[in-house]
Amino acid sequence: MSKLIDMHFHLDFYPNHSQIYNNINKLCQHTLCVTNQPEIFESCMDMYPVTKYVQFALGYNPQCVNDVPFSKNTFLRNLKRTKYIGEVGLDFSSKFCSKKEKQMEIFDFICTKCIDKVMSVHCKKAEESLYNILSQHKNKKVALHWYSGDEFWLEKFLKLGTYFSINANMINSYKGSKIIKCIPKENLLIESDGPFTKVDGKKYTFDKLTKVYMLLGELLSINSEEMKLQISQNFTKLVEK
Ligand SMILES: [Zn+2]
Repeated sequence: MSKLIDMHFHLDFYPNHSQIYNNINKLCQHTLCVTNQPEIFESCMDMYPVTKYVQFALGYNPQCVNDVPFSKNTFLRNLKRTKYIGEVGLDFSSKFCSKKEKQMEIFDFICTKCIDKVMSVHCKKAEESLYNILSQHKNKKVALHWYSGDEFWLEKFLKLGTYFSINANMINSYKGSKIIKCIPKENLLIESDGPFTKVDGKKYTFDKLTKVYMLLGELLSINSEEMKLQISQNFTKLVEK
């Protein structure tokens, strides 16, 4: 039987993270816990054993660029502890665009060091720069999370073999649902992006992952067993690329 996969989850943003960690393991939900700074990855790894179901991704969120410097040393020191990278990427929305150059320098560094890693990538109003960096370094195992760009860049990313992880907020928005329908089902993944999304009007909690699968299945007219199987095959392909 195929198990559920959550490609992008912020475990450390929940005050009861240890309880959630235990429950995710009990439910056998494969969950990629992204981190926003290498220091946070390091504490998560020291605090929690990696299991078949809970993995941690080493990251530096571009939205941290105004507040927290990126430590290359901490990043590199932790690189061998995981095959997953995230949340990383570029964010050129108004709050962060004064640090475009800095963000690009960091993301470029991360991409050069992570050619063979699975990456969960954030991209906001930065499609062109992000595309250029990914195509230059030929990172193959890339999943764009909460994609908000247009169809032109979607096509370009698809040609690079990029995957797209879809969350409930995207499914429930007009723009998001329109773009989801343009993505081949072989390139789809599912994410919660908990706690930053809502399911049925309520903040995402780990027990709502089945519902996100259902919502995507409904949007694409795929039944839920088929949906689970497709996502699980896609994930395996991405990891083995
Ligand atoms: Zn996120």
